[in-house]
Amino acid sequence: MKEIVVLRLGHRPERDKRITTHVGLTARALGAKGMLLASNDQKITDNIIEMTTRWGGDFFVKNDVHMIREIKKWQEEGGKVCHLSMYGINLPDAVPELKKADKLMIVVGAEKVPGEIYELSDWNVAVGNQPHSEVAALAITMDRIAETDPLTVPFENAELTVVPMAKGKKVIHDDELKEKNKQDS
Ligand code: SAM
Repeated sequence: MKEIVVLRLGHRPERDKRITTHVGLTARALGAKGMLLASNDQKITDNIIEMTTRWGGDFFVKNDVHMIREIKKWQEEGGKVCHLSMYGINLPDAVPELKKADKLMIVVGAEKVPGEIYELSDWNVAVGNQPHSEVAALAITMDRIAETDPLTVPFENAELTVVPMAKGKKVIHDDELKEKNKQDS
């Protein structure tokens, strides 16, 4: 399976808490391995890791990374970098190349992204050329480049598992699930 990490730039702790948390949760839900946060906000890491403990998987968050160093290190290790920007080439044109990358870093901004990021990235990719949101851009990109349906990503060791249903809400706790599996076997 493709290894995807998301690099979140420009996070401002006083105003971007929710959206950066949503970037991380969306990356996790659609099968990324982790998020690198190029700002210092330990609470984002703590919130997402707490969600991961409850909902499973081994998603990681690295707080306060140096964006340029992370990009260069990733590329030295053979990874490719896709920066999402409304000014880039259109996603459908980039998808065939993006699908070939085994290791892909997806970079999303918040406020203005430094020019160096455009230069260093292997691709600057637009999810349409209209301004919208880093969460939407990330979700659409991950869906379009996925090898298998990203909505069926398995999450191991979850404390909580949703039972899908047309109406109402049902969540199973892992101890109930273990008991049920014991009874079924
Ligand atoms: N004004 C900022 C700029 O000029 O770079 C962009 C702000 S936008 C709210 C935040 C992030 O959302 C961008 O850095 C980009 O990653 C993502 N984004 C927004 N619209 C996009 C689009 N149409 N295509 C790709 N990414 C987009």
